[in-house]
Amino acid sequence: MARAQVIVVGGGPAGMLAAGTAGRRGLAVTLVEKNERLGKKLLITGKGRCNITNITDLDGLIANIPVNGRFLYSAFTQFSNQDLLTLLQRLGLKTKVERGGRVFPASDRSVDVVRALEKYLTENHVRVIRGEVSKILVEAGAVSGVQLKSGETLPATKVIIATGGCSYPLTGSTGDGYRLAAEHGHTITPLKPALVPLEVREEWVRELQGLTLKNVAIKLLSTEGQKIYSDFGEMLFTHFGVSGPVILSASTHLRPATSYRLLIDLKPALPPEQLDARIQRDFQKYARKIFANALDDLLPRKLIPVVVRLAAIPPEKQVSQITKEERGNLVALLKGLALEITDLRPLSEAIVTAGGVTVKEIQPATMESKLVRGLFFAGEVIDVNAYTGGYNLQIAFSTGYVAGNNC
Ligand SMILES: Cc1cc2nc3c(=O)[nH]c(=O)nc-3n(C[C@H](O)[C@H](O)[C@H](O)COP(=O)(O)OP(=O)(O)OC[C@H]3O[C@@H](n4cnc5c(N)ncnc54)[C@H](O)[C@@H]3O)c2cc1C
Repeated sequence: MARAQVIVVGGGPAGMLAAGTAGRRGLAVTLVEKNERLGKKLLITGKGRCNITNITDLDGLIANIPVNGRFLYSAFTQFSNQDLLTLLQRLGLKTKVERGGRVFPASDRSVDVVRALEKYLTENHVRVIRGEVSKILVEAGAVSGVQLKSGETLPATKVIIATGGCSYPLTGSTGDGYRLAAEHGHTITPLKPALVPLEVREEWVRELQGLTLKNVAIKLLSTEGQKIYSDFGEMLFTHFGVSGPVILSASTHLRPATSYRLLIDLKPALPPEQLDARIQRDFQKYARKIFANALDDLLPRKLIPVVVRLAAIPPEKQVSQITKEERGNLVALLKGLALEITDLRPLSEAIVTAGGVTVKEIQPATMESKLVRGLFFAGEVIDVNAYTGGYNLQIAFSTGYVAGNNC
């Protein structure tokens, strides 16, 4: 067997970009993936549509990476979102831009992204083998190869660890890279769920399961009332609590098993006085109805019974009899529907894993380990994580490119 110069561990977006890029430089590259197919997690991204990246500028990318964003300046400069789109286009993938600068395949099918990346591997003569890497072999401070679970060893002068995080473990991301790196002295920042749904104490959320609210403003407060996060956009109710883009982004700032207060402004475009005027107009229109039947123009149907209960206005009360004070309570409720957050959902349900190989021990310009010569890192295994919007995949692609181009 020809001596593989470069071994890439993990065939997700980071590993595929790294392997193809190293191959393009004429290096002999072997990509080792433990699943029967490449990009298993990539296939389920963006609800099967794959939000590939975001068309914001460099500062916009960094601003959307709350954990160690600055470490990625060099990587994004070497391989930007525009570079990624140019590459994917050359590989035959048509893309489209949606709300908030989010980029998706024009076909809305994540499998087309995987196919484009597979083409990148083929055209750059990357050898893909199925296997699980159980050890990185190091001699005199430099990489000498990898050992597979089967016992087989593969020699190499460069190894790129692109094993992902440890969320959604059925996709193959079971956290192997953390152990592989730690065995050679790398520090692993404690792992925790990021971009994860939140559990709430209130039982009534179950009634709202499946309801999406498109334009709401949320605020997260500590139990002492200190503001932790605020955002505007889409959220949804689940059987255990809340999820959706603004909630997932908020979760990045929260600790597991800690209480927080979530306030949802259901009418962020209307200041309280304007909302009150709007309600008065509705109440005039529905003057003959009872309160429980007078909110159809104001709220999604599923939300009405819950709001009616929480508003402390008798549901059977004639709308024309509702007092100014009662209306004031309703306005306050709509401007700040309160929920108590009790916990994050577990790491296995997180979109990304926060924590990982500390950036202090990785060269930002090459992704090479500062501890072991010839060892590189790419993707979610590194201690960086971003909000939703395509940023996490851009991190995987950019760090993968840099590792493949500098190994
Ligand atoms: C439901 C969901 C939706 C998401 N949607 C989006 C989105 O739309 N946009 C976005 O930007 N991000 C999204 N993400 C996040 C994004 O998918 C990840 O950040 C990204 O896949 C990380 O890429 P990676 O290559 O580092 O790791 P992964 O994609 O996890 O790939 C790692 C690969 O390594 C393999 N592997 C692991 N250990 C070994 C081993 N020992 N030997 C051999 N192979 C091994 C695994 O099998 C896996 O194939 C989503 C995540 C989830 C869970």
